[in-house]
Amino acid sequence: MSHIKDNLAQVELQIADACKQAKRNRNDVQLLAVSKTKPHSQVREAYHAGQIAFGENYLQEAVEKIQQLADLEHICWHFIGPIQSNKTRLIAEHFSWVQSVDRKKIITRLNEQRSGQDTPLNVCLQVNISGEASKSGIEVNELDELAAMVANADNLTLRGLMAIPEKHNAVQSFARMASLFQILQHRYETVNTLSMGMSGDLAQAISHGSTMVRIGTAIFGART
Ligand SMILES: *Cc1c(COP(=O)(O)O)cnc(C)c1O
Repeated sequence: MSHIKDNLAQVELQIADACKQAKRNRNDVQLLAVSKTKPHSQVREAYHAGQIAFGENYLQEAVEKIQQLADLEHICWHFIGPIQSNKTRLIAEHFSWVQSVDRKKIITRLNEQRSGQDTPLNVCLQVNISGEASKSGIEVNELDELAAMVANADNLTLRGLMAIPEKHNAVQSFARMASLFQILQHRYETVNTLSMGMSGDLAQAISHGSTMVRIGTAIFGART
């Protein structure tokens, strides 16, 4: 028995409640369903329950699912995993969004490889907001330069920032992300996305201004 539809309804309640607590509009926060390691049948089920945006971390697995689900109109795929430079073409060709961009070489390659597609690739820069221990993401002092590079790329659209804070300093990290996001938003009119918050901390992320929560476990169950 699958409970995906019920789980989605439960997550929706949590998001609505967090928005209310934070005095924010429910429509200001998007739900990204993180379907990594889960079969395409479960993604289809979530889609039929009304979920449109899905996040994936592993390219091979993701591309297979994207192809198996090509019949689902308006389904929107976000790549949120670590990016190897020899895999950028698959991202540029199969995804609408990539949220884990963290270096110049990746920006250059994605821009080149997106050419010829109908729409630009939506990009969030991943920020290593918790410091040393987590290796993924740019340092805060690289943000200006990399943001300008994405903003100036013909086939990319700078949409915002993504972070995966460590648990022990999550609240502090959310607050720092919010201030970086505000600065970026004032500089670039395409920027409207602050992607932070997962199954365990979505309410805190929303109270700190998240506009997109990335939820896996609470929708699809634990990953094995
Ligand atoms: C797996 C993953 C998530 C979802 O995490 P849950 O705790 O299962 O909700 C969100 N963001 C990223 C980048 C992930 O890799």
